[in-house]
Amino acid sequence: MLKKLTLLAGLTFLAACTTVPITGRRQLSLVSDSEINSLASTQYRTVIAKGPLSSNSQQVAMVRTVGQRIQGAVETYFRQQNAADQLAGYQWEFNVIQDDKQQNAWCMPGGKVAVYTGILPITQDENGLAVVMAHEVAHAVAKHGSERMSQGLVQQLGGQALSAALSTNAPATQELALQAFGVGSQLGLLRYGRNQETEADHLGLIFMALAGYNPDGAIAFWQRMDARESQASPPEFLSTHPSNGTRIADIQRELPEARKYYKPR
Ligand SMILES: [Zn+2]
Repeated sequence: MLKKLTLLAGLTFLAACTTVPITGRRQLSLVSDSEINSLASTQYRTVIAKGPLSSNSQQVAMVRTVGQRIQGAVETYFRQQNAADQLAGYQWEFNVIQDDKQQNAWCMPGGKVAVYTGILPITQDENGLAVVMAHEVAHAVAKHGSERMSQGLVQQLGGQALSAALSTNAPATQELALQAFGVGSQLGLLRYGRNQETEADHLGLIFMALAGYNPDGAIAFWQRMDARESQASPPEFLSTHPSNGTRIADIQRELPEARKYYKPR
């Protein structure tokens, strides 16, 4: 029985791979875009309804400006690569959650973004915010949530009845989705993997540059992250490090490529 299941799972893997833009990495994909986007949309509504949302209109306007510029850059990039279909079904939203303790942000599949007020003292300005938001958007458009979810489904369900599991509202499935999107418990099974973090940094630099933000600002941002006082609740992007030192070294190496895309506004 076990052998049969393994074989079945193996066959599914062969049939279910996608390729990450820019890096060209092959990834496991057992969940369709429309399934994952619809799941994310439901989760997003729940999170946003709970809020509380920031009532600081200046903060909200800044997050939306940066978000929409990054959205525009990503859409242009995918169109130029003849890959616009990968963003089909995206309905971008950018919200600010009032929580000064959470130095965090995330983007669910389908372009559903939340930034927590706690990260804003560290991002400091629009350019710093672009570092974080471009990184989060990169996770989404590189389908990292879907990849984590596929891996989680294989681990938890042994690769069986995947679509049946997804179509139910089983609490376990919902929890899996939240974790896969970087929203759930940071100690959970499905934190983004180290390779996904490195990939989101790489893509994020290019997307922010395309959006007209100086990618060199990423170094200063990560130095500020390193120096921040509270380590109490590690945000999504610190959950499975690259350590900050490794991360900054990687970003230094990738900056010359990203600068080629940078046109100051
Ligand atoms: Zn990340």
